[in-house]
Amino acid sequence: MSHTVGHALRAWVRAARGALEWHLETGESALGVPDGFRPPALGAFAGAPRRPAAPPPAAPAAPSAAAQARLQAAQPDPVAEPRPASAPADPPVVAPALIPAGDGAAPRAAALQVLRDEIGDCTRCPLARGRAELVFGWGSPTARVAFVGDGPGPAEDALGVPFVGESGALLGRMIRAMGLRREDAYLCYVTKCRAPDGDVPDVAVETCSPFLRAQLARVRPEIVVALGDLPTHALVDPTASLSRVRGQFFERDGLRVLPTFHPDALLQSPNLKVAVWEDLKKVMRALGLEAPRAKGRR
Ligand code: SF4
Repeated sequence: MSHTVGHALRAWVRAARGALEWHLETGESALGVPDGFRPPALGAFAGAPRRPAAPPPAAPAAPSAAAQARLQAAQPDPVAEPRPASAPADPPVVAPALIPAGDGAAPRAAALQVLRDEIGDCTRCPLARGRAELVFGWGSPTARVAFVGDGPGPAEDALGVPFVGESGALLGRMIRAMGLRREDAYLCYVTKCRAPDGDVPDVAVETCSPFLRAQLARVRPEIVVALGDLPTHALVDPTASLSRVRGQFFERDGLRVLPTFHPDALLQSPNLKVAVWEDLKKVMRALGLEAPRAKGRR
């Protein structure tokens, strides 16, 4: 076997293995796999029990009354990830100890609410003009891991809740694949208001980034996952190339940050899921988490 053929074969096997792991862990059916590759049946998960109902999350800053009304009226729940009848059940959740002993959620939730009150009905940058709802953040105030996106999209803007659109549903599956529940994490954005044309002006990033840093300083997650270019630039390095720094840990302002691709990028390029899953496994190892599948094989 020539060196070139051997190298290509090893790369193919690595890609196929990563693709399979993602498929098995997440139930993601939109995964691109090499031509002619047929993933095995998912029988191992067919009888897996569904996880118990989650307790209500300790949301640090509730959406406005108008957003809450829209949220309740939205059917089906945009946070829920619909599955076809034939899809495998959710993998069982490994229940890690997410709240450090002796460190209560209430003081952090209160500090987040004070910050939310300080932001108020913000008009500090031009994005205020086009928003329906300011999207502050959502999740556990004692989360061990935070996911930071660039800014709200139309669905999030309408409801005032982060990551409720299609890419948010994918992020939910990514979090579940890590053995966590969505409400175990903290979700927020660099900019709290939607950029109507999707193009976030620099002045909005500069003006809103201090709010992000203040949020993360209150939650104090062990790891912050920066989803995409903008969060990577805001939290790691304004000149960083995501393709170069992706999957590496950076210590910045007391935060440990790992950049990876945004779920939107995965929807557009499913082949990136293999790389993102590798990055998330680094986060899991750093947190001492165990993938549900790995536990089941013991
Ligand atoms: S994006 Fe941030 S700074 Fe700009 S108006 Fe919204 S909350 Fe204020």
